[in-house]
Amino acid sequence: CLYCLTFRSSFEPGSNSAEATAQELCRAFRKHWLQTDSSVQLSGCLSSSKQRSVLKEEIPRELESSLNLAEEIKIISKLRGSSGWSPPRSQIIFNIHPSVKRDAVVAAQNFTCVGCGTPIESKYVGRLRYCDYLGKYFCDCCHSYAQSSIPARILLKWDFKKYYVCNFSKHLLDSIWQHPIFNVSCVNKALYTKSKEMDRVREAQEQLFHLKKLLKTCRFGESVLKEFEQVPSHLTEELHLFSLDDLVKIKRGQLLPLLKDILKSSTSHVDGCELCQAKGFICEFCQSADLLFPYQIAKCKRCTECKTCFHKACFKSGGCPKCLRIAARRTFSETPSPAP
Ligand SMILES: [Zn+2]
Ligand SMILES: [Zn+2]
Ligand SMILES: [Zn+2]
Ligand SMILES: [Zn+2]
Repeated sequence: CLYCLTFRSSFEPGSNSAEATAQELCRAFRKHWLQTDSSVQLSGCLSSSKQRSVLKEEIPRELESSLNLAEEIKIISKLRGSSGWSPPRSQIIFNIHPSVKRDAVVAAQNFTCVGCGTPIESKYVGRLRYCDYLGKYFCDCCHSYAQSSIPARILLKWDFKKYYVCNFSKHLLDSIWQHPIFNVSCVNKALYTKSKEMDRVREAQEQLFHLKKLLKTCRFGESVLKEFEQVPSHLTEELHLFSLDDLVKIKRGQLLPLLKDILKSSTSHVDGCELCQAKGFICEFCQSADLLFPYQIAKCKRCTECKTCFHKACFKSGGCPKCLRIAARRTFSETPSPAP
């Protein structure tokens, strides 16, 4: 499922299968939730734990990413018989549910509450409560009109409004609130153009990412590194990865000022520190004394291969001179020497 192409660690260039990563995470999530779902307040509603474990084993692995409602119902019915009910799965949903008529959704739920499996007589269908996160209807036992922002609405629409969710979803969303599991470049890169706040944060993050690396190698960097602790560490160690809490703070304008403060202290350290200055690059094109650092993203062009820095303005399209030298040397050494 495209929307389920998930979270964490797709930042690593080696992980070519985002889907595999996503499925792995869905599995991990699910495992965690199946172990702890006594705390999910479903316990009173669950018919038997045996039923749960059967379902867990029977659902094929490839179905563990989020499926759309119809598919999911179809598959579950096939596995369990048409009367089968299974508790909601702890999944991260990345799509906004289309508005479908109540009757159609409830029919697809086999006229049962998704939370507890209680059959619903058709005259009571109107009393069921909608969960905006799962896109399904619940009885009043399973839905207490709790409200939450919805991850998909934040990520796709930059919409932070609160919507009604069932108790299960409320608990799930609260429990993932602080976890950096949303990779904006995977889920919706366009968010950086849609939201100016996001774009500014990304720019500050990119600089802090390089500065932190540099400061960690500096003997005198300790005190300025302390300042990085004002924000969660993933924000200055990985790009594109956010928790819902981060996104809310960005929207409220609470995160950028902190990042800017850290940026200011860090650059002023580097400017005044002999050890850090010794790690600057001299642009090979112009040989000027103006030292270059990878964090200077506005003026520094960095070779993706050898990581050498050049002035953006100086860099010629022919490629990185250092890499060209390395390639030339290799060709030279591979040229067969004349036979004796
Ligand atoms: Zn219920
Ligand atoms: Zn230093
Ligand atoms: Zn230059
Ligand atoms: Zn290079």
